Amino acid sequence: MIEPLVAPADVSPFLPFALPDIGEEEIAEVVACLRSGWVTTGPKTRQFEQEFAAYLDANVETVSVNSATAGLHLALEALGIGPGDEVILPTMTFTATAEVVRYLGAQPVLVDVEPDTLNLSAAAVDAAITPRTKAVIAVHYAGLACDMDAILALAAEHGLRVIEDAAHALPTVYKGRLVGTLGSDVTVFSFYANKTMTTGEGGMVVTRDAALAARVRMMRIHGIKQDAFARYTSTTPAWFYEVVAAGFKYNLTDIAAAIGVQQLRKLDRFLLRRRQLARGYADGLAGLPLQLPPDAPPNSGHAWHLYPVRLTKAATLGRDEMIAALSQQRIGTSVHFIPLHRHPYWRDSCNLSPDQFPVAEANYHSMLTLPLYTKMSDADQARVIAAVRATLS
Ligand SMILES: *Cc1c(COP(=O)(O)O)cnc(C)c1O
Repeated sequence: MIEPLVAPADVSPFLPFALPDIGEEEIAEVVACLRSGWVTTGPKTRQFEQEFAAYLDANVETVSVNSATAGLHLALEALGIGPGDEVILPTMTFTATAEVVRYLGAQPVLVDVEPDTLNLSAAAVDAAITPRTKAVIAVHYAGLACDMDAILALAAEHGLRVIEDAAHALPTVYKGRLVGTLGSDVTVFSFYANKTMTTGEGGMVVTRDAALAARVRMMRIHGIKQDAFARYTSTTPAWFYEVVAAGFKYNLTDIAAAIGVQQLRKLDRFLLRRRQLARGYADGLAGLPLQLPPDAPPNSGHAWHLYPVRLTKAATLGRDEMIAALSQQRIGTSVHFIPLHRHPYWRDSCNLSPDQFPVAEANYHSMLTLPLYTKMSDADQARVIAAVRATLS
């Protein structure tokens, strides 16, 4: 038998930093949806919403949407955010968190994050509150929950609404409870292709407030009082509907929901694999000049959407060189995030400078996100660990 040759580094396959995990179950469910003749929002969407609510295991309303961005927009709209209002959010996030505030003519107020978790700092929120502050958006960075007790207490004290951008936080446990059931006004999940479960594009708005859910449900489909499927199946004449507001076109399709129904059934298995990979990195990268992401405290759970590491002062090369070195070994990485205050639009329109965000700024220059996804094999991870070790030694 011929010994297999070890492939030289430059011909090994490219290892992306994220990949969706779609199986035959999702494919069959989509095909069944296509064959059913009902492809837009309808029975599959309803089933997905119901099963998502059941997964969170609480008395919550779930409204599916075609992205988390749409969901955040609808959530703020339903909370009455408008011109003259200020909404506090972390600079260490994706632009979607802030842009939805602009959609409504309100002012995003960017604040700094905690040094260890890179989550929204309650102290920074406190310092940024003005008489115009109406809401706070907490982003559970990488899949670890923010200090929600502190944020909710601060919000209660100042009469602020709290929105959770839970794009990374499915499933995340905070002090024994899943994100989505923590008692904020509204929580929004993302099913974008690289998130912990996907529908291609999609999102879910979760709230305990029935009136808010009704407003989101109506505004996601043109401000029409009843959705198309309800009209289609109702006993009143199918042609009749009433527009009661200038709404949006943010509904999820049944084709996408079909993927979601099957992904949701795999979510706990996905989490176990992500957790295994996170442990693999914690062991494999120990002793290097790297600050590894903090695990969740006892009685809480990390969703491990991302595995961002930070080079320490002892590292002999910079972040950009590290990314280039890994790329040369055909390993994909990313950076989460280029803080919003560094993007021209936010910098200029909010008049921001880096010295206002010392924690985000210091960490931005040293961070990179390593590959972590359920389809990654142990051998894939060993390759990443070996490449990181070689680069840093
Ligand atoms: C992915 C992401 C979003 C946007 O989600 P979409 O479903 O793509 O709209 C919002 N906030 C954060 C923090 C994200 O990572």
